[in-house]
Amino acid sequence: MVKRKLSNQFLGNFLVMFLLTIMATVFAFVLLSLSSGLISDSLVKNRFTASSIIREDYRQIDASAVVESGGGVQVVDKEYRVVYSEGLDTIGKDELSTGEFTAFLTESRSRPYHYDILYQPEGEFWLIVTFPTSIRIDFAVVHNKEAYSGDMTRSGLVISAVVLIYLSILALLTFIYSRITAAGITIPLKKLCDGTKLLREGDYSARVDLRLKNEFAELQDTFNDMAARIEREVSLRKKSEEDRRRLILDISHDLKNPMSSIQGYAELLLDKRDMTEREKGEYIEIILNNSKRSNKLLNELFELSQMDSPEFTLRSERTDLCEYLRQTFGEIIPQLERAGFGYEFDIPEESVYAMLDKDRFGRIIQNLVNNAIRYNPQGTTVAVNLLVHDDKAVIDISDDGIGIPAHIAQDIFKPFVRADDSRNSGTGGSGLGLSIAKKIAEAHGGDLTLLPNVDKGSTFRITIPTV
Ligand code: ADP
Repeated sequence: MVKRKLSNQFLGNFLVMFLLTIMATVFAFVLLSLSSGLISDSLVKNRFTASSIIREDYRQIDASAVVESGGGVQVVDKEYRVVYSEGLDTIGKDELSTGEFTAFLTESRSRPYHYDILYQPEGEFWLIVTFPTSIRIDFAVVHNKEAYSGDMTRSGLVISAVVLIYLSILALLTFIYSRITAAGITIPLKKLCDGTKLLREGDYSARVDLRLKNEFAELQDTFNDMAARIEREVSLRKKSEEDRRRLILDISHDLKNPMSSIQGYAELLLDKRDMTEREKGEYIEIILNNSKRSNKLLNELFELSQMDSPEFTLRSERTDLCEYLRQTFGEIIPQLERAGFGYEFDIPEESVYAMLDKDRFGRIIQNLVNNAIRYNPQGTTVAVNLLVHDDKAVIDISDDGIGIPAHIAQDIFKPFVRADDSRNSGTGGSGLGLSIAKKIAEAHGGDLTLLPNVDKGSTFRITIPTV
């Protein structure tokens, strides 16, 4: 529909242009003949005509004005001899044959000279005044009513046919031109329309390739850019919806067990009157442990969602990272020793400064060390390394323990992801610790990653910008 409309509009426009061109051409001819009439009196050929200088005796002719104006004067007598010649001479001979003189007279119009030829009957000579033509257009419609009517019809027919063919060719060219021009617009428009329709129908992978370099190419780039953005947004939204759904599922799953256990044992305590003190104590301890677990989970969830909220800010201050790490690990060493773990620290002596929210940053380190202790056997060594690289401090916390299976390494920072599905075992954590730690590192303008391809155990890397 768009195509037909536009191409018709173009055809209409071109037809109007075509008519206007014809009108302008006619107008130009009229103007040309009018203006040539206006200047004709001042042209030398009309000022110095043959009749104005002719004399009965050619010897009395004054050719000086003609010669001064760049022209020439010749007199040919009845024997076709050039008996007088001044200035410009296009005859080029002293004597002509009858044939040559006739040829000179008949062909004079086609040469780039203006000839004014007059016969003087008394002196029996021809006076020829010649001027070089400045510019001349020979175009005239000549018509005589006395012509033979058959000729008239034939000539009329030929002229009409030529005009008709000329107009038809022009019209055809106009049509073709309008189609080509319209196609230059309708084809890219159609492709863009098709792309938009695909987008509307939910196919966000739709892209347009017009192979053009004009404004349409700009539109195409904008369209493709827009489609790519929508595609990205939609897939991000899908992913975050999926993540949210999973999170809720995980939360409810993880809360369900301790909560029903608390409820069950509390009911038991109420119902069973003949309970020994030992039994009672056992039940209360189970209730306490389960409520601790639920409480820990809820606290961690609260912390995680707090960090996602726009109001979340760090209380950062410029801190010497090396000194801070030495101090923190000084507090952690007894914990490692109690667990029967070895340790190695490699922290430079000089000062490396970074903007730190000390409490929160400490949570990252505490979490990583706690994990190392919790998930690895006695005798495992925990190593801490700090080096500065390109305005960044890189802290590696590694252990030579059991390591993290490759298949979950990618997802380990997602909430509720655990290597062993230890949900039901009392030792298992919530699976939120690393998510929180990563978010804290990101809030510091850095990151927390798990290094791939380590030989043994696992290495977590904290990066943080130095100041
Ligand atoms: P959790 O509260 O379960 O410890 P995390 O997010 O801190 O949650 O850790 C996720 C999982 O990653 C853990 O359940 C554990 O299986 C694994 N993990 C973390 N650190 C280590 C480590 N140093 N060695 C082996 N496994 C680890």
